[in-house]
Amino acid sequence: MPLFLKKAPTKSFTDTAQSDVAARVGTIIDDIRANGDDAVRRYASQFDRWDGPFRLDDDDVTRIMATLDPQVIDDIRFVQEQVRTFAQAQRDSLVDIEVETLPGVHLGQKHVPVRAAGAYIPGGKYPLTASAHMTIITAKVAGVPRVVACTPPIRGEIPAATVAAMKLAGADEIYILGGVQAVTAMAVGTETIAPVNMIAGPGNAYVAEAKRQLFGEVGIDLFAGPTEILIVADDDADPFLTAVDLLSQAEHGPESPAVLITTSRALGERVMDLIEDLLPGMSTRDYAEPAWRDWGQVIVVEDLDEAYALADSFAFEHVQIFTGEPRAALEKMHDYGALFLGENTCVSYGDKVIGTNHVLPTLGAARYTGGLWVGKYLRTITYQEITDTASSAKLGEVCGRAARVELFEGHARSGDARAWRHGGATFPW
Ligand code: NAD
Repeated sequence: MPLFLKKAPTKSFTDTAQSDVAARVGTIIDDIRANGDDAVRRYASQFDRWDGPFRLDDDDVTRIMATLDPQVIDDIRFVQEQVRTFAQAQRDSLVDIEVETLPGVHLGQKHVPVRAAGAYIPGGKYPLTASAHMTIITAKVAGVPRVVACTPPIRGEIPAATVAAMKLAGADEIYILGGVQAVTAMAVGTETIAPVNMIAGPGNAYVAEAKRQLFGEVGIDLFAGPTEILIVADDDADPFLTAVDLLSQAEHGPESPAVLITTSRALGERVMDLIEDLLPGMSTRDYAEPAWRDWGQVIVVEDLDEAYALADSFAFEHVQIFTGEPRAALEKMHDYGALFLGENTCVSYGDKVIGTNHVLPTLGAARYTGGLWVGKYLRTITYQEITDTASSAKLGEVCGRAARVELFEGHARSGDARAWRHGGATFPW
């Protein structure tokens, strides 16, 4: 039986206030459908204190980028190169195929990018510059011709580094627009923004709910909501790194859970003490402290097999492995968004610099999907051709019989007609 040194409440924050969020989001979507840019401007003013134009042209972007320290631009370029390299390797792994299943029967599959994608780059609490790399570069490597990128102003100001990252990543249109108004404008279109075919990117509960309600009318990548971290640690783990890394994700917001599962009670207790020591010195304490207090957990288990099984049951967005043999987790664990093996790397590297995508499933979505990657922007489509008349006749005979089992006379006749035309059967009707 696991021992809880610190336990989170049994309620899930998805239950709390979720219906309020859904109703509010539905109202905003309806308003934007009916009133287009006027409604978008109203919500931008109401939620983000933004009354300026929301589309940036090239001159605006150049002016904004000129305000940045050149080191910021250099770092953006460095990180984008890491993201591009990994995304390109993913694209290269997707080969188009064509096989001959019967003589002259050719079946094929190819990957075709969506024509237009919307990239949502969050910015309510922090300017999430790195989300621009993750959403836009991945779309461009997939070959999406039109990438529309939206990010909100932060405390009424344009987030200059995020705008630079959007431009350097290759966004074709850049908007200072956030939340439901951004997602809806991209999905349904307004006088200023032509609609896109799919929308990707993380965001808060409002953004996630807008994507959920608009799904179908527009494609979405996945539900990438409030961030989550889980660390599996044994006796050898460094308690200081463990505490620092748990807080690194708690600071995302007051509802970001941080969980430690360890085989060492001593380590669990030490990490809890260290977190109390570290919190007061964090400039982001206002988010990190309630997140740790309300959603933090420390669980002691008998052995690593129990730790891996328990960790899988959380299906968390991020899992770090601080054990003597971290790569063992690759075989033992299956339900997570991204795995960080060993103490030399961490979720912050994944979030900001290393090159794997940081848009990842939360709230248990890791049970059925991985994170954002090149494939999410591609449609895997199939085709077929028969160049051998005998094979067409053979398939026609089977089609006639199989369709009649399902009572589909029209389908059956398409098969009959080919079987007859190619001389393999008598014309039956
Ligand atoms: P955000 O850009 O998602 O949301 C800001 C917008 O929310 C504002 O523009 C505003 O329009 C809207 N909003 C705020 N209050 C509202 C209200 N009362 N009614 C309607 N709309 C309202 O930025 P954020 O809030 O900082 O959230 C970012 C989230 O993204 C965090 O929870 C973070 O953990 C998450 N994230 C997840 C991943 C992932 O891959 N899962 C990656 C990065 C970030």
